[in-house]
Amino acid sequence: MFDYEEVPENYIAVEFVNTVRKALKFSSRDLGIALNVRFFRQYDNASPRQFPGTYNFKHKIDLAGCVFRSMPSTVWISVQAANPVKTVFHESRHVFQITKLDSGDYEPDADTYARAAIDAFYHWPEAGTADYFKQCPLP
Ligand SMILES: [Zn+2]
Repeated sequence: MFDYEEVPENYIAVEFVNTVRKALKFSSRDLGIALNVRFFRQYDNASPRQFPGTYNFKHKIDLAGCVFRSMPSTVWISVQAANPVKTVFHESRHVFQITKLDSGDYEPDADTYARAAIDAFYHWPEAGTADYFKQCPLP
């Protein structure tokens, strides 16, 4: 099991947050769904909790992002995600699956959507010229 805690947005590099928000704006329009974002990090004994008052959860795999069925419009993005834009698109598609589809092909469909969305995002004028794949160092 891995332990995760929510990271308040003001502790995250502003370029990371802006890049994620741009990607989220793209997928929200592209998929026709409302989307919010919250951020998290993995913690363990070597790197204990830094934000004890925030939401925390466990999961059996090492997550770059996730969506909880109890909060179906919220995409959760790890501040440690190697490719946060792709993760936003993958998780946005899960929101779409939960709210709009009734299909069982969840992971392949999310991966296919993420690959297509990345290509389209690069050609989207509003995406700008930020480094979309920048990793976020925690303070
Ligand atoms: Zn997935």
